[in-house]
This record gives sequence, structure tokens and C-alpha cells, in this order.
Amino acid sequence: MRYVSTRGQTRPHSFAEAVAVGLAPDGGLFLPESLPDIRGRLDGWESLSYPDLCYEFLRLFATDIAETRLREIVDASYRKFDHAETAPLVRLDENLFVLELFHGPTLAFKDFALQFLGNLYADQIARTGRGINVLGATSGDTGAAAIHGLLGKEGVSVFILYPDGRVSPLQERQMVCTGADNVFPLAIQGNFDDAQAALKEVFAESEFKERYRVSAVNSINLARVLAQCVYYIHAWFRLPEKKRERCEFVVPTGNFGNVLAGWMARRMGLAVRGFRIATNRNDILHRLFSTGDYRVGEVNPSLAPSMDIQVASNFERFLYYSVGEDGGRVREIMTALKDKGRFRFENFDKDVFSASRTEDEEIVEIIKSVYEKFGYLIDPHTACAFKDPDPSRTEVVLATASPAKFPDTITRATGIHPKHESLEALKTRPEVKYPIKGDKSEIMRFITANAAEGPA
Ligand SMILES: *Cc1c(COP(=O)(O)O)cnc(C)c1O
Repeated sequence: MRYVSTRGQTRPHSFAEAVAVGLAPDGGLFLPESLPDIRGRLDGWESLSYPDLCYEFLRLFATDIAETRLREIVDASYRKFDHAETAPLVRLDENLFVLELFHGPTLAFKDFALQFLGNLYADQIARTGRGINVLGATSGDTGAAAIHGLLGKEGVSVFILYPDGRVSPLQERQMVCTGADNVFPLAIQGNFDDAQAALKEVFAESEFKERYRVSAVNSINLARVLAQCVYYIHAWFRLPEKKRERCEFVVPTGNFGNVLAGWMARRMGLAVRGFRIATNRNDILHRLFSTGDYRVGEVNPSLAPSMDIQVASNFERFLYYSVGEDGGRVREIMTALKDKGRFRFENFDKDVFSASRTEDEEIVEIIKSVYEKFGYLIDPHTACAFKDPDPSRTEVVLATASPAKFPDTITRATGIHPKHESLEALKTRPEVKYPIKGDKSEIMRFITANAAEGPA
């Protein structure tokens, strides 16, 4: 299988190459040259465990990685999940199911992709004998999940920029209390946009980037989307058989990576009715899917911070399919979007998608009412997906984070103080973080002093 860019001006890459590069050189995002039809394989996949299913699925894509190696990479990626089912499906009502995606090491769904990506990097380092330095900026969950995907791995140093004092205390602890000597949380002055801007400046230093093999960890890596397809298929098998084709996945959405993975699985032949895109008050995707108008606005902080996004970077992949896999057309639209900050989007499958928007006050009310009705605690992101459930449909809500990660909102809504032992354990560990001002040269000096050499 080869990988092409959504903007059509990059030569086809192998899986390993596309993963290593991240963003395509023409500025686009990688996608498989063609999507396999999985319908004929589903019967054989029905009773597989999560790692077994994941291996069978990813084998169709990672065709340049030896099968025994891929098997080891996949097994290692789901070993640290603390639930035997990896992604258990919980039934709350006749037609209402919850897919729990928070049993990984950082208690949010990003572990599904970033544990896998971390092991792919480790494999690359082992094969080439050259170390890499991973650099990212985070406002919360991604940084923690990336750190835990690379923690203690030989030949890699992880540098994560985050705005000092502006991530939640639990999220910060997940980054600064790891005890691993290859992890460098850089607490910079300013807000998330400042962190992001500093990161971009460092990546623009191409000589430095090459010399230290600086690699980005972000939401656009192809391996992340593919790894996320697996839990949709796994959940589908765990639904009662006659409900499968009618089911709708309800997905708390920010960057469009999660719901895109589900939609791609459907395009490969997984028979499901559709998807509901659940946004918080940052509702660019709700407006798009309800009116066809894509217009970038201001980001407003909310109680579901991992969805506080206005530019949904993975949307470009959906756009590519929606314009008939025409890279030239994607380039035109992306240029227009950059110039005017908006475009009109007409030709998408309206039957397959719907969207909703949830305000902060509603998030608190929903957490309370779901708890009262079902005795089930949900986190603020998942709460957005519980807005106005339709009992006539089979709905599968994706629970993207553990309620224990957001204790303040949960306590406000229900009076309960949720706890998770892995978060409690962090409280007794020493914090190691590096407060820096955060300009380009300071970050580059820091990386130079702490760069990974490669495996011993
Ligand atoms: C990242 C994140 C989301 C948004 O997922 P996207 O793939 O960006 O749409 C939702 N909920 C939680 C808890 C997250 O960490």
C-alpha cells in the first residue's frame, strides 16, 4: 500500500516513510492510495481480541513492516491498557451504548493512536540506528498521551511545550511526574498560541531540524487515524447483530481525527448508519454540517478543553474524498480558506452526518442527568455527545476521557469526587519540568543540550 497527499503534489510514500514524515512535503496530509474493502474479512474478524483485530486491520496498511514486527508493535501498544476488553462497550439502555476509550495510560482516547505511534518511532530508531527528537506543543491531552507513548524508549527524547499555569493540574502532572529521563516538559510563558508559534519557528529551521532529526507529534500523522479505525470495528461486533447496521456513532469532536477514522471504516465497508459530530461552544464543525458554511472563528475556552479548536486540521482528509480525490481542487479550497477564512461546502453526504453544539452550562446539566438516570459518570467531552439522544436510533457514544481527569466539573455536577489510582499515584511523585521563556533560540539550545543520540 502506498500513500498519497491530499494536495496531490507529493510522490507516493511507503507507510513507514509517511509515518516518519508526518505532514506531506506539499503541505497536505497523507492518505492510502486506495481504501481496501473489508466486507469480505468481517466474518473472520468477529471474535478477535482487540490487539488481534488491530493487527489484522493494520496489516492491510503497514505493508512495508514485517508481519512479526508489526505484531510486536501492536501488542506492545495495547499492553498498558487497564481493561481486558481494551475498548469496552457498555449498554446504558435499549438503544444507547457507550464505547469507553479511556482505559489507556493517560485516561483519554488519544492513547489508542499515540501508544502505537510511539512504538512505530521506536521501531524506526531500532532499524536505522539513529535517534530522534520529538517536539510538540500541547494544551493538554495530546502532550500527556505523546509523552506516555515514548516514555523510557531508547534513542528518543521528547520535548513538549505547554503554557505554564494554563493546563489543568492533573494534565500537567501526567506530563511532569513521569520519572523518565527522556521526557522534557517545557513550561513556557504565554498561552497555547504562543507555544504553537514557538514550535512552528523551530520547525522552520530546516538545518537544525535535520541535524537533530526533530520530528513533530501532532494530530495529522496518518498512523493515528488508521489506529483509530479499529475501535469502531471492534465496537460494531459487540453490538447486538440486528442493531449494527442502524447504529450511529456520536463523537465528541475537535480536530475531526476521531470521527474521520469512523467514517473511513464505513467507507471501507463497515455497515453503519452514520455519525453525529458533537462539538462544544467552539462549533465550527456544527455550523459546517448544519449550514454548509465553513468559517473560522475565535477559540473560546470551555469545560471540554480538548475540543477548543477552530481549525479542524483533519478535515482536509474528508474534503479530499468529498471532491472526488482531486488534489488540485483541495489546493484551491485550502488557499481560498487561508485567504478568506471561509468556504461553502456543498457536496457531502448529509444522510451520514449530523452535528450538535453544547454550551458549558448544558455540559454540567448533562453530566448530572446521565448520572441520575443511569448511575454512570461521564467527563465533560463525552457529555457533549449525550445532548438530545434519539431513542429511536441505536446510538453509540464515544467516551473520550475518564471523568477522573476532570474532577472539578464532575463534582460541580454530581457532588461526587471521581478518583483514579493512576492519577492519585502521580500526586506523590516528584515534578520535573523546565520553565523557560520559550523563544526559538532558547528552545533550540535546550534541545541541543538534551538531544537523543540513538540507541547505545
Ligand atoms: C482530543 C480530544 C477530543 C477531540 O478529538 P478529535 O480527534 O480532535 O476530534 C475529544 N475528547 C477528548 C477527551 C480529547 O482528548
